[in-house]
Amino acid sequence: MKPDSAPEAVLDRIDADTMLREVQDWAAINTGTANIAGLDRMAGVLADAFATLPGEVELVDPAPVSAIASDGREFDKPHGRHMVLRVRPEAERRFVLTGHMDTVFPVDHSFQQVGWLDEQTLNGPGTADMKGGICVILHALRAFEATAGAARVGYDVMINSDEETGSLASRGLIEELARGKYAALTYEPSALPDGTLAHARGGTGNYSITIHGRSAHAGRNPHEGRNAIVAASDLVLRIAALAAEDITVNPAKIEGGSANNVVPDLAVVRFNIRPKSTEAMTRFDTQLDSVIATIAAERDVRIHRHGGVTRPPKPVDAKAQRLFDLVRDCGAELGQTIGWIPSGGVCDGNNIAACGVPVVDTMGVRGGAIHSPDEFMIVPSLKERAALSALVLAKLSTGDHL
Ligand SMILES: [Zn+2]
Repeated sequence: MKPDSAPEAVLDRIDADTMLREVQDWAAINTGTANIAGLDRMAGVLADAFATLPGEVELVDPAPVSAIASDGREFDKPHGRHMVLRVRPEAERRFVLTGHMDTVFPVDHSFQQVGWLDEQTLNGPGTADMKGGICVILHALRAFEATAGAARVGYDVMINSDEETGSLASRGLIEELARGKYAALTYEPSALPDGTLAHARGGTGNYSITIHGRSAHAGRNPHEGRNAIVAASDLVLRIAALAAEDITVNPAKIEGGSANNVVPDLAVVRFNIRPKSTEAMTRFDTQLDSVIATIAAERDVRIHRHGGVTRPPKPVDAKAQRLFDLVRDCGAELGQTIGWIPSGGVCDGNNIAACGVPVVDTMGVRGGAIHSPDEFMIVPSLKERAALSALVLAKLSTGDHL
């Protein structure tokens, strides 16, 4: 008799038709990151779907997140709830599987419909990124639960509602769930439509720096004013100069100012950084503090710093590499050729790796053109990737691989 974790046995247990129907239904629900009503509906649908697995499903409130308005004021940004499933929390060896239910398409965006590009290719918002991936998690776990090894291990599933804007309202939850896990799998679509995985990733950070000067009459007493726009310009030039081989700095926007006859007392500078290493990330942080202190002193302005690195760089260490090798080997058993390439993008895999947990973060469907109305999912990859994950989980549940 074949073991229940043999590739053919795993494949037999995956129902491709149900998977396709679920992705079509889920993609029809708008879940732009700011569409709280849509996210709430989606969270309910997902909670029902994942309740078919063992364990407890919970909808977790988003952590509070603030942002800086163009007038320099800090305000609260609402987010949707996250779904968490905890299975066999008492098990010694546990995994974490993560996905996101939000998409980059707001509720008033023109791209809302699912349609066929050809017999095997579905076009629709979030089909690849990543309602297809969530469906892969669900069906991989169902197939995995039918193996004898499943009872020996446990896992958490987390589907957040805010990945596309940096997981600010789920970052703490991700870290909490990642801690102590043997391995993590994240279900972003493959890096290339042929199934190639994303390997090492850089990090990213977003900042809003608010500068408060002092207004004065441009003709009468300009020397009594403290020009926030001049200070902002100084700041922009200094942070741009911090770009190096291992980090990019992109000053993106200056807001504020006032009428031509007024010394402006407010400016907000927004910028993004992409550190390639942890060293570059921490170095920039220190340099930014010192630039801010210098400008505040030299120009007699008040400066408030908001934001920071949301996704630390994700190098691939030896343990993570062994997880990549395992995924490749499982692919080979299923007749799938799986390679990997470094990626310029970021995702929750960055945050999981920063917890010291080995992660492969592109276990989702094969597809492409994500974040555009041309987004597509290659339909046969639903079953293909669900089988791949089920097999990886079966291997990880016994012996020592990492
Ligand atoms: Zn995604």
